[in-house]
Amino acid sequence: MPPAPSRAEAEERDRVDALAPFRERFVLDPDPGAPIYVDGNSLGRLPRSTATRLREVVEEEWGRGLVGSWGQWIDLAVAVGDRLGRALLGAAEGQVLVGDSTTVNLYKLATAVVDVAPAGRTAVVTDAANFPTDRFVLQGIAERHGLELRMIDDDPDADQVAAATRAGDVALVCLSHVAYRSGALLDLRGITDAARVTDTPALWDLSHSVGAVPIGLDDAGVDLAVGCTYKYVNAGPGAPAFLFVRRGLQERLRSPIWGWFGAADQFAMGPEYEPAPGIGRFAAGTPPIPGLAAVDEGTCLLEEAGLARLRDKSLAIGDQVIAHADAVLAPLGFEVATPRLHDRRGSHVSLRHPEAWRLCQALVAELGVVPDFREPDLVRIGITPLYLRFVDAWDAIDRLRLVADERRYERFPVERSRVT
Ligand SMILES: *Cc1c(COP(=O)(O)O)cnc(C)c1O
Repeated sequence: MPPAPSRAEAEERDRVDALAPFRERFVLDPDPGAPIYVDGNSLGRLPRSTATRLREVVEEEWGRGLVGSWGQWIDLAVAVGDRLGRALLGAAEGQVLVGDSTTVNLYKLATAVVDVAPAGRTAVVTDAANFPTDRFVLQGIAERHGLELRMIDDDPDADQVAAATRAGDVALVCLSHVAYRSGALLDLRGITDAARVTDTPALWDLSHSVGAVPIGLDDAGVDLAVGCTYKYVNAGPGAPAFLFVRRGLQERLRSPIWGWFGAADQFAMGPEYEPAPGIGRFAAGTPPIPGLAAVDEGTCLLEEAGLARLRDKSLAIGDQVIAHADAVLAPLGFEVATPRLHDRRGSHVSLRHPEAWRLCQALVAELGVVPDFREPDLVRIGITPLYLRFVDAWDAIDRLRLVADERRYERFPVERSRVT
């Protein structure tokens, strides 16, 4: 077993880290004893520029401009989508729209595809480890359309997707790019290609990869995608999600929600619904303007730092966390549940332990570390390289060691709280 990485090594890496100055661009608690936040994969920190921009949107654009501000707001969902597409998704303009939640966007795109599926396409494929909202939305669609929901094994590879779609009876494959539980990074291109052999569209949920992993949607020939913006994009609680539809597919699909914001000639207020040309047809109602502004700021910050550099730092911190866990946590009953290979790993490391829930409670309550817990036995360490330091990750693992070693979790309840 190689020795544990030292705290001094972590400090040295922070000293030479070119991304270190970005930490100051976020609202931080100045107290040196402030908690170490390793839950940015669940809710990202607040960028300072976003606080400023939101004040402007609220006090100036809304407060003074009132309805006159619609001139600058009306196309914001597409403009912010274009920026997000260019900076974070590798998508050319006119293919990304920001608005609604990931859940609603998934519903809209999955239904749109199922609605036009050729006869004989009687199944929808996803994996058993997919995020609950994805499985539930697909369950509902399958039930209403009389389709089979075909569950394949956790974190599938291209061969498994090829096997599940080979018969040509699948209307849609829907998978998460990075698995929220294991942290596994799926083979976006290989799986998309495998599905395409039988003309099966693939819909990707990018919630855990957007802003963390470079994604080349156009390059990989991806048809459809959705994702949220309050994790690595730092756009805040309930910030609007995005959807992506490949340009060549847009005119063939219709949103199941025929709203006025998705209609051609919106302000004609005519008698019949006619979908707008292009990506705008997937809009439904009035867009959430403050949320869009926050997505814009979060995207700009990531674009400025550069996704390739962010990915390098994320993997380096991940390597440190894994080496540290192998050295000091494995003897205490922990197991690294995240793939070790760089091209198979997203931006969090999941540590499995039978007492994961009580360990998390003790970390938050007594040791000033905020990770999160995922059923049934995972502690997730989220790696957000814009503001997480190597030394933060080192301290988080060291304190986890302390809590486990001294059994300080034993005083905490086994019952789960309302939010975990
Ligand atoms: C976080 C997350 C969501 C969240 O969906 P909401 O509609 O924003 O609540 C959906 N899917 C995945 C894979 C996620 O990680």
